[in-house]
Amino acid sequence: MLLTINQLTKQFGGLSAVNDVSAVIEESKITAIIGPNGAGKSTFFNLISGFHQPTSGRIELSGQDITNMRAEHVARLGVGRTFQTTHLFEQATVLDNVMIGHRLRTKAGLFDAIFRTKRERDEKKKCLDKALEALEFVGLTSLAYEQAHSITQEQQKRVAFALALATDPKLVLLDEPAAGVNPDETEGLSEVMKKMVKHGKTVCLIEHKMPMVMSLADHILVLNHGELIADGTPKDIQKNERVIEAYLGG
Ligand code: ADP
Ligand code: MG
Repeated sequence: MLLTINQLTKQFGGLSAVNDVSAVIEESKITAIIGPNGAGKSTFFNLISGFHQPTSGRIELSGQDITNMRAEHVARLGVGRTFQTTHLFEQATVLDNVMIGHRLRTKAGLFDAIFRTKRERDEKKKCLDKALEALEFVGLTSLAYEQAHSITQEQQKRVAFALALATDPKLVLLDEPAAGVNPDETEGLSEVMKKMVKHGKTVCLIEHKMPMVMSLADHILVLNHGELIADGTPKDIQKNERVIEAYLGG
């Protein structure tokens, strides 16, 4: 198992945003996390990636306990992620966005994103190469020097993918990669996710667009009110009564 989650709970005050969830994420597969708004999906990602510390439970990455590790440390161990809303530096180029993001994800703070010494300039070169490679991977090479505000929503999602990929993760967490994207354009994003798997990555996405989830995912986890209510193949999930009720019952 690439990731093993054991009885994970996150409480915010009296609210259990994630409640006693146990699950595994298999290597080289696409796992989708679905569930109504407020189900705890993003919190689940925040726990895995070290942005939040769990109230209880355990998280293992390739057998290593990462439960209370800080986000930069988890990133360095091979977990990349995107956020539900993409915040790009609008006046900066697409390439600079990926480079800055790369630095922020691997180092402690913004101060480190400024390159001063010779060693830092060498680092910058490495960072540039990584960023260009990531942009090529997501099909954005031709837009590298465009300003971020001038690209489409779908292209912004690809930039977010490139940001997540620039740290060479083995596990990529994508929070609603197709949200706000025109339905005709989601296929291209699905293709990039499949390509990630072909290149040895494991993908876990949170997504509301069901046709996309059902055609893309090998495995689906369903959260509702913080609890894991179903876990199985797309086929299993589509006929699961608790899932149908969670969606239709409101
Ligand atoms: P989802 O991504 O499934 O829509 P979230 O994980 O964002 O759900 O939120 C789950 C629940 O936890 C919601 O009730 C939300 O209001 C709450 N929540 C999320 N983050 C915080 C936080 N930082 N502080 C307090 N409550 C939070
Ligand atoms: Mg969310």
